[in-house]
Amino acid sequence: MKNRYPLWCHTPPPVLAARDVAVAAILKKSEMKDGQYVFHIPSVANNIRMQASELLNHLQNLKMKREITYELKDQAFCYTILEVPNDICSLAAQLTKWLGEVETCKVRKLDMVYNASVFATTACDKALGCNNDEHTPCLQRKIQEYFSGDCDADTHIQMDQNSRFLRADTKVFLQSNAQAKFTPRAIARIFHGLGSPAFPSATWSRTHFWGRYANVEFRAIMEAAKEELVYFVGKNVT
Ligand SMILES: [Zn+2]
Repeated sequence: MKNRYPLWCHTPPPVLAARDVAVAAILKKSEMKDGQYVFHIPSVANNIRMQASELLNHLQNLKMKREITYELKDQAFCYTILEVPNDICSLAAQLTKWLGEVETCKVRKLDMVYNASVFATTACDKALGCNNDEHTPCLQRKIQEYFSGDCDADTHIQMDQNSRFLRADTKVFLQSNAQAKFTPRAIARIFHGLGSPAFPSATWSRTHFWGRYANVEFRAIMEAAKEELVYFVGKNVT
């Protein structure tokens, strides 16, 4: 995963690098952009055998000593593998499955909050003592139902499962961005108008597919994208 940091030095960079191993690694591992050093935290940390968090603390200290200034861009999670297993692919698969479950759980919570708010604003019959815009009683009831596990079945918001144009648009999108390497999730993010470190909004919001399918179920886009990608990659390999 990538964390990119532009960095400026007050002391001339080579002088600082001579007495600071982290700065030396940064100079080695970074690209120069507009007079700033842009680098990935995990690659520099690996290079000097530091944890990403240690490197961050180190940079923070240099910042406090007014040796450097830096700015954090494109934050992402990064994992440290403490014990390398025999089958690293199965570890990756387990992590993906676990993150998928976390995602489902978070989406369910968000759906619940959304449904409760929609109920309060449009469907509440004021039977629980709500009045005008004051809907504390019915919101409390919804929250109680959530915590007692009574609202499992209907919390999920029904969005369009598919759109007539989704597959065709995915194909056009892939063809017009043939140079990029997409995953189904990356395509779903772009179609929902969500930036990510690998596909930042500053660049990708320029495509007219950006956010176009925000009303279509995220997973439905991922499924469509998966099928189109298999077809597209297959066609370009042969
Ligand atoms: Zn109410």
